[in-house]
Amino acid sequence: MSRAKQRIVMKFGGTSMAGIERIRHVAGLVKAEADRGNEVAVVVSAMAGETDRLVHLCKEAAPLYDPREYDVVVASGEQVTAGLLAITLSGMGANARSYMGWQLPIRASGHSSALIDHIDSEILEGVLSSGGIAVIPGFQGVTAEGEVATLGRGGSDTSAVALAVAAKADRCDIYTDVEGVFTTDPRIVPRARKLHAITYEEMLELASVGAKVLQTRSVGLAMRYNMALQVLSSFEAKPGTLIVGDDKIEEYQMEQQLITGIAHDKNEARVTLTGLPDRPGTVAAIFAPLAQANIIVDMIVQSGAGRGTATTLTFTVPTASLAHAVAELEKAKESIGFEQIMTDTDVVKISAVGIGMRSNAGIAAKMFDTLAERGINILAISTSEIKVSVLLPEDYTELAVRVLHSAFGLDAEQAA
Ligand code: ADP
Ligand code: ASP
Ligand code: MG
Repeated sequence: MSRAKQRIVMKFGGTSMAGIERIRHVAGLVKAEADRGNEVAVVVSAMAGETDRLVHLCKEAAPLYDPREYDVVVASGEQVTAGLLAITLSGMGANARSYMGWQLPIRASGHSSALIDHIDSEILEGVLSSGGIAVIPGFQGVTAEGEVATLGRGGSDTSAVALAVAAKADRCDIYTDVEGVFTTDPRIVPRARKLHAITYEEMLELASVGAKVLQTRSVGLAMRYNMALQVLSSFEAKPGTLIVGDDKIEEYQMEQQLITGIAHDKNEARVTLTGLPDRPGTVAAIFAPLAQANIIVDMIVQSGAGRGTATTLTFTVPTASLAHAVAELEKAKESIGFEQIMTDTDVVKISAVGIGMRSNAGIAAKMFDTLAERGINILAISTSEIKVSVLLPEDYTELAVRVLHSAFGLDAEQAA
């Protein structure tokens, strides 16, 4: 029985595109999908390390670079790989052509972390329905003014899902350098277990607390449009991980794990303000200027009065915003009334995520106990409905992720 034709968006990350030999391998995977009778659009990342190199060049040119020009520079990495893949596919006899963000166009607003407004699907529809393979650079779009815009680091995942939604694809396959989504980063914990399936909601939460296997926005988009999403390896032909709705997860997992995954994030910095007056309005006076400056504050801890009426407030901000945050607080020093400001970038946020938490108390307590047993001091805590996060000294990253992974029964050997 012949299978119905499917429309598929295949996305390949930087490691998969690093060099002509790997691009040739990717071309083989793409051609095989097309030869099975499917309609294929391909989204590519820049070669591994290339975007970092380009970002670095911008900073070297001027530390306070213009985001408009930054986008012109960093979007170029994907232009190179899209062209090279189209050349390679054509050389293999496939009917492939590249289409830049401005050609489709992928309409976006803002610079350096632009949002996709709309993708015109006409050109893409035409190419796919006539049997052509469209190769599209990820990470880029075009503004209303016709300027190149980029979608933030890891943004090719978001390009892929957005294109899948616009083209009404049957599914979006994200090919990367690991076999799928694991219970934690397999590069930190070799005993991490590959998940057959994970819910959109859990993946969204894991990505937002540091599991960079998917850009958070791509998961939000897939969830919103119910796009079938899959993460799999471009190096090994093995089943990957399906990202599915809450209603479907039981098909893959009869029993709910308490915790689905553990993630870590080293890109937060701790700010501590001491000698704060213990009166209404103090906290508001601190966070108002930060909000005004668009600085995202994450974990917050207030410690009670030490001597007399002075209190201490600790919170975290993205490391990239630290200097800006300190400058804003110094400006507001008089109205806030703090004594001293201290900062620490040698911290890590470790989070346990799972929808099983909704029906189970005691996850946080277990996390704290496990860390205490190892003598690891917790600097701050935050929780949500399906997540507990702790802030720790950065040196403990690997140990903490490993012991928590074991404590929650996630190690591969313990799996049923
Ligand atoms: P790509 O270049 O393909 O977009 P990324 O480097 O952005 O790849 O994402 C893949 C990486 O994500 C893996 O190499 C792995 O180290 C990391 N990672 C972090 N957390 C997880 C997780 N829970 N499961 C799988 N990979 C993870
Ligand atoms: N090349 C871009 C980055 O490294 C986008 C991506 O690969 O998703 O962030
Ligand atoms: Mg990525």
